Amino acid sequence: MVVSKKQVIDWLDASATVFEQQQEFLTNLDREIGDADHGLNMNRGFKKVKEKLPTLEDKDIGTILKNTGMVLLSSIGGASGPLYGTFFLKAAECVMAKEELTVTDLYNLYREGTERIIARGMAHPGDKTMVDTLSAIVSSLQTQQEAPLTSALNSTLVAAEAAMKSTIPMRAAKGRASYLGERSIGHQDPGATSSYLLFKTLCEVVG
Ligand code: ADP
Ligand code: MG
Ligand code: MG
Repeated sequence: MVVSKKQVIDWLDASATVFEQQQEFLTNLDREIGDADHGLNMNRGFKKVKEKLPTLEDKDIGTILKNTGMVLLSSIGGASGPLYGTFFLKAAECVMAKEELTVTDLYNLYREGTERIIARGMAHPGDKTMVDTLSAIVSSLQTQQEAPLTSALNSTLVAAEAAMKSTIPMRAAKGRASYLGERSIGHQDPGATSSYLLFKTLCEVVG
């Protein structure tokens, strides 16, 4: 089984719904250790992506993801816009001209996208950012390349959730939350949470 182009479109479309529904939740997480706008940022960005989807339906997966990255770059402010924007732009390069994705394609896409986020934001696992969740997804997908798609996605989702929760006891070393020092401990990172929600939505769409 593979991820079809239609499922990629459905993933982005469903993500817009998820970020609309979870806007309050993400913003409340960001209120604890940031500036209370992460839910707003994600909702605004994916709403714009959703608006663009009808023009992308007949394009290949690389082009769809590239456009997603460009829309996110231009519509989300703050730290997360450029980071998620470059994630999708870089991910797109790995899957140019593809009409479907295998587990290995997903691994390559997440690995390249995450490496770009690390190169840009200089955060590493343990710094209490989206990189914690994304790195866990990359490591899991790497080991799941021979597994059937749905089981690879399901076990990776478990790893992603654990990584998201692992940010709670961490002291933030990057981003706004790092200004709080010790006081950032005890709160789940908003970006680690949005990265989990994005992957969870992919799992749900693929079924
Ligand atoms: P801002 O902090 O500019 O208001 P958001 O609230 O939208 O932007 O996003 C905050 C999230 O961005 C954080 O929870 C964290 O996961 C992520 N983040 C911040 N700085 C970095 C960085 N340097 N590298 C990776 N992720 C980061
Ligand atoms: Mg914020
Ligand atoms: Mg902000």
